Amino acid sequence: MSQINLGIIGGGQLGSMLSDAAKKLDIKTIIFCDDNDAPAQNFCDHFIFGKYDDKEKILEFIKKVDLITYEFENIPYATLNEMNKLKTVLPKPSINRLIQHRLAEKDFVNNLNIRTTRYALVDKITDIEPLNDFLPGILKTTTMGYDGKGQYVINKLDDLNSLNIDFSKSYILEKMVKLKKEISVIITRFGTNNYEIYDPIENIHEDQILKYSEIPANISKEINDQSKNWATMISEELKYIGTLCVEFFIDRNENLYVNEIAPRVHNSGHLTINAYNISQFENHVRAVCSLEKIPLKKLSNAKMLNLIGNEINQYRQNPRFEANEFFFDYLKKDIKAKRKMGHITKLK
Ligand code: ADP
Ligand code: MG
Repeated sequence: MSQINLGIIGGGQLGSMLSDAAKKLDIKTIIFCDDNDAPAQNFCDHFIFGKYDDKEKILEFIKKVDLITYEFENIPYATLNEMNKLKTVLPKPSINRLIQHRLAEKDFVNNLNIRTTRYALVDKITDIEPLNDFLPGILKTTTMGYDGKGQYVINKLDDLNSLNIDFSKSYILEKMVKLKKEISVIITRFGTNNYEIYDPIENIHEDQILKYSEIPANISKEINDQSKNWATMISEELKYIGTLCVEFFIDRNENLYVNEIAPRVHNSGHLTINAYNISQFENHVRAVCSLEKIPLKKLSNAKMLNLIGNEINQYRQNPRFEANEFFFDYLKKDIKAKRKMGHITKLK
């Protein structure tokens, strides 16, 4: 087969790991990113710096690639759509547009008869007053949120006065779920009823940022089966191509809820690099590039620890690890609080 040039939009750690996986498959990667310091330029074959609405840069990118994928969902729909007219974009731009809007995403999930927590659109402060039933709740920006950014916990209506919320943006108010656990399911779909699915991963968040991910998840067989079933239904309904992650809540009564969908590879799946024969990244590249699908095999149980902010320092300074520990430094230029800087996966 002739050389494949895979375009990736976004140059963070997910772009790095996608590039690494592509390299193993002899596929060249071209990354387009609006951050000149993006860490993925250390891992890709070619890097293009440009804003996501810069028509010239977009054209330069398109000329260099055979097809395009992306590592994050907050890309303007117009950009993906324009690109898709000249080179195939996978997952399809319409999927990205649906999922990048929390209201459209939740409506889509509910229309499949899949449970989410209760939610309502909030465009202005007075929209919250009749929503007492939704409290305690979390107010989330409808678009552009990640790692808990753009989220406010509202216990009672009075809280609104002290929070200084910018109502030039729109929000959804979600009823707080009394969490017992959080899990995620990662699936890579190659075509109709043709997919590989990873076992549910148990996730622990601190300050709304993922801290630990572990397999196997300590969950009942019912939850195991239902979460995989719902993730499969979602990816089939979307006619999705590539790797997708569904985040779930389990409440204290053992009810399962979909929290959100990520139309991309996901932080909770980093452990698949070491714990499976094929990682979520390799599977994504295989699916979007129409390569062979290989049956998944779990090689080991595993636990991943995210290194956030200056937690990375001690490992950079003293990188001593056991044979079953794998350290990943994302090589980000600046250390910032709440920023994911690297991770460690420990096989068990
Ligand atoms: P992000 O897009 O930032 O990942 P999420 O909606 O996944 O946003 O929220 C981040 C975390 O905040 C969740 O993983 C969970 O720990 C907590 N959280 C968010 N929404 C709720 C909710 N409705 N009930 C309980 N916890 C929540
Ligand atoms: Mg999330």
